Amino acid sequence: MSVNIISRSAWGARPWTGDVATVPLSERTEFFIHYDGATPITRTGVAIPQAIEREHLNNSWSGIGYHFVVSQAGEVYEGRGWALQGAHCPDHNRSGIGVQIAVGGDQAPTDAALRAARELYDLACAKTGRTLAKRGHRDGFATNCPGGRLYAWVQAGMPAPGGGGGGSTSTPYPGYMTARGAKGSTTRAIQSALIRRGYGSLLAPYGADGDFGSATDRAVRRFQSDQGISSDGVVGPTTWARLFA
Ligand SMILES: [Zn+2]
Repeated sequence: MSVNIISRSAWGARPWTGDVATVPLSERTEFFIHYDGATPITRTGVAIPQAIEREHLNNSWSGIGYHFVVSQAGEVYEGRGWALQGAHCPDHNRSGIGVQIAVGGDQAPTDAALRAARELYDLACAKTGRTLAKRGHRDGFATNCPGGRLYAWVQAGMPAPGGGGGGSTSTPYPGYMTARGAKGSTTRAIQSALIRRGYGSLLAPYGADGDFGSATDRAVRRFQSDQGISSDGVVGPTTWARLFA
């Protein structure tokens, strides 16, 4: 799971015009998908978050209201980010991470955009250590947002086109055992699998951080024990196959 988030400074965001409250990850329980509105859009690159920012500043908001914006090219732009209260859906701005997929009207989202949004969802679950509820804006407020196509995608469970992200594709065993002390992408894949399998609370508050420490060790041993296999905390071929089954 690698989500490359383009920071506010990288896309030229303006400073917040007022204080924006912070929200601990422990309060996040939902993940909202939005669209840009009734009109298809043709903007690309940094012009996308910049246009949204202008509109939201015109609403007298402190700046862009979404936590993240995903372009048709699959770029992910930081808005409020992980730590700030959003301005995207009344009564859900603290509990909900709000993500706009930058399409409008009946414009079809690209596979790249859906894949990036799904990866962002998986990352949000990893960071919070829980399975966030998948929602469209209209689930929290009377609106057409996020449009028919995106809402159908949300209701289908936000599948990642071309596999990946959903946890249903098998991931090949890397050819080496992974245990306490390991760091990197293999550990992150193991942690993400543990979260998908319902062991996220044991990884909290670290989530899928790529660092195989005592929390990951505990989660692996619990998983192995539940599977009825040797609970040694070592992810070898058997544990791997069970995790990614
Ligand atoms: Zn919306």
